[in-house]
Amino acid sequence: MSDGVSRRRVAVIGAGFGGLAAAHDLLKGGRSVTLYEATDTVGGLASGFKEAHWEWSVEKYYHHWFATDRHMLELIDELGWRDQVRFPRPYTVVYYKGKFYPFDSILQMALFPGLGWGVDKVRFGLVGLFLRLTNNWRALEQTTVEAWMRRWAGDRVYEMMWQPLMIGKFGERYAPQVNMAWMWARIKARTTRLGTFEGGFQAFADRFAAHLKEMGLDLRLSTAVQRLSALPEKGVSVLTEFGEEHYDQVLVTQSPAVLARLAPQLPADYLRGLLELKSMGAVVLIFSLKHPLSPEGYYWYNIPKSAGFPFLALVEHTNFIPARYFGGEHLVYCGDYLETDHEYFRLSQDELVERFLPALQRINANFSPDWVNKTWLFRTPYAQPVPLVNHSRNIPPIQTPLPGVFFASMSQVYPWDRGTNFAVEIGRRAARLMIQSQG
Ligand SMILES: Cc1cc2nc3c(=O)[nH]c(=O)nc-3n(C[C@H](O)[C@H](O)[C@H](O)COP(=O)(O)OP(=O)(O)OC[C@H]3O[C@@H](n4cnc5c(N)ncnc54)[C@H](O)[C@@H]3O)c2cc1C
Repeated sequence: MSDGVSRRRVAVIGAGFGGLAAAHDLLKGGRSVTLYEATDTVGGLASGFKEAHWEWSVEKYYHHWFATDRHMLELIDELGWRDQVRFPRPYTVVYYKGKFYPFDSILQMALFPGLGWGVDKVRFGLVGLFLRLTNNWRALEQTTVEAWMRRWAGDRVYEMMWQPLMIGKFGERYAPQVNMAWMWARIKARTTRLGTFEGGFQAFADRFAAHLKEMGLDLRLSTAVQRLSALPEKGVSVLTEFGEEHYDQVLVTQSPAVLARLAPQLPADYLRGLLELKSMGAVVLIFSLKHPLSPEGYYWYNIPKSAGFPFLALVEHTNFIPARYFGGEHLVYCGDYLETDHEYFRLSQDELVERFLPALQRINANFSPDWVNKTWLFRTPYAQPVPLVNHSRNIPPIQTPLPGVFFASMSQVYPWDRGTNFAVEIGRRAARLMIQSQG
């Protein structure tokens, strides 16, 4: 490699899984890489935290990998850390008339009473099989989940099995508008075995960042980027509170709205396109309990809004990763996807605890508030992109119209649903493109 190439300077904004993966490949491609991260830790939405007496960290938002998460697992293989990946098989349950039923094997689905014993169950099975087998998501994105499912699976199957999920994830407003390719991708990628890294996702992110630093990464934690500007000659200036620095290329890994704020020089129609992309936020309250919550040892409870719980998902993390790694504490997430004007984004932690606590007794009649050791609250405005009909036409390309500025976010991994696996995939794709575009 010539000296000219090895001196090329690149900035990556955001040390989530996408930014870290991009930094890895850019360093391997001989670039000098600076990684800016607004918070004081790496890992982004998949980051975690750890009490002093815990062996493992817990993710701020519930996280696991699927066995199909090829890009994530290939990266881990390249790093030589596959022996640190664990794939337990925790239980997922669905709600029907006040009770929860296990729902992650063909036998359990066959026994689930919510679909009766006749044609609906057969249609549910056939539709699931079709979606697993087809690869033609482009045809599916032309219609909504609601219209497609009502037509092929029937009203009852849609209303019982899919509508609650759609409303939970996208709210009453967007649930009827989300396209069928999103559901296809979700069904295609899911597996019953769920994976994690020894020590938690934060342990992976920390180890990855340490490895990147050994490769020469200049990691700037607690350094939020405020503005990107194209330089008159060539290259991009990056402004932070500590001053301005110049790079040949910059990769942005945040939401479309953040890119629009950071780079107002982008052409007006491109900015409009970014701001038209919809997404949901997330609110997650974690309870540390003295005793297990789920009497049956279930991990993931899918809860329809109609059941009157104050949240969408209840996830007992310590039925996935044993409580012994958390000082014997039992960790339970109560989470919801919501638009950012929802009151849960304004209520205090105590107010949310007050709202959520009574629902825990519906899971375990013996639960009492004195089981609670501690709670933590996490909120993010950008948790789940909303793909409307024909969404593929609206995805911004990785190479933006502003020379030297590249963009790789959760909103562009479509038709796949967002996840660390696809953050790694798009981060690496962006790095490839950045290297190629310099010749
Ligand atoms: C509730 C919830 C559950 C999820 N469950 C799973 C799961 O089970 N499995 C899974 O694989 N994925 C899951 N995900 C998705 C997964 O977390 C994301 O897809 C992935 O982490 C996105 O990585 P990213 O690098 O694209 O973005 P992010 O992780 O959002 O990283 C962006 C980074 O940029 C930083 N930043 C922001 N602004 C600036 C600035 N101005 N300057 C510098 N830095 C900045 C942020 O602090 C952040 O660290 C879940 C997400 C949520 C919200």
